[in-house]
Amino acid sequence: MQINLTGKTALVTGSTEGIGYAIARQLASAGADLVINGRSEDKTEKAAKRLESEGAKGTVKAAAADVSTSQGCSELVASVPYVDILINNAGIFQPIDFFDASDEVWDRHWQVNVMSAVRLSRAYLPGMQKLNWGRVIFLASESGFNIPVEMIHYGVSKTADIAVARGLAKRMAGTGVTVNSVLPGPTLSEGVQAMLAEEKERTGLPIEEVAAAFVMKHRSTSIIQRAASVEEIANLVTYLASPLASATTGASVRVDGGVIDTL
Ligand code: NAD
Repeated sequence: MQINLTGKTALVTGSTEGIGYAIARQLASAGADLVINGRSEDKTEKAAKRLESEGAKGTVKAAAADVSTSQGCSELVASVPYVDILINNAGIFQPIDFFDASDEVWDRHWQVNVMSAVRLSRAYLPGMQKLNWGRVIFLASESGFNIPVEMIHYGVSKTADIAVARGLAKRMAGTGVTVNSVLPGPTLSEGVQAMLAEEKERTGLPIEEVAAAFVMKHRSTSIIQRAASVEEIANLVTYLASPLASATTGASVRVDGGVIDTL
């Protein structure tokens, strides 16, 4: 199977590091022109340079913008008016008990994890529809099905991502535009490494072992019994973003190591 994205422009939100950067790297190595996005100009420029040096075949553009605000999304759309592939990846997760999670915590997760994707889908889908080809992928989570007790606010935002993606797929019915959500399980991104830093310091164990212990404690239904790598998530996203995945739309596709225990 050959995946060729030459001539397609892809925007990956929150792609200066973590799963987003891994997705950008895979799409770029398949030939796509890439738009890298993060909040800081400096970090976004650096990630774009890194991508160029790591084998991007097409062009690479840095477009810094805070996608959690409507102003940030408008600025991003003004600097990149059209994309063929939109990867709604930017997301935050913060374990906070329900009784300590303020309105501000709920609102922040909603704005970053859901409204960024709503605004950008609204801006880019009409252009895709005109050309009768496009791909929109939401990075949701297994936590959208299995609401995590330690971060209910996060789980709810990811359930919303799955619902919005399903609704948009139906809205694009009969066109060559597909919309899907991808459901990773625990994945060793920079964000998760930061979340586990204290435990790594306390135990002195390698990060992979700390992550595996976290998986077995908090996601005990995991079949792979370890965290996934960012590349394992990017592999699935790259396939779904390609012309080969033309009959997959409105789906919530798992790359969760078997955490979701339903058929
Ligand atoms: P990460 O923290 O490692 O990276 C997130 C990226 O998003 C960073 O580049 C950050 O700068 C950027 N970002 C955050 N807020 C932003 C904003 N307002 N505007 C622009 N960029 C912003 O995160 P990750 O673990 O790679 O997660 C990526 C996505 O995958 C998220 O949507 C997350 O919910 C989802 N996910 C992650 C895991 C996991 O275990 N890592 C599991 C399931 C789902």
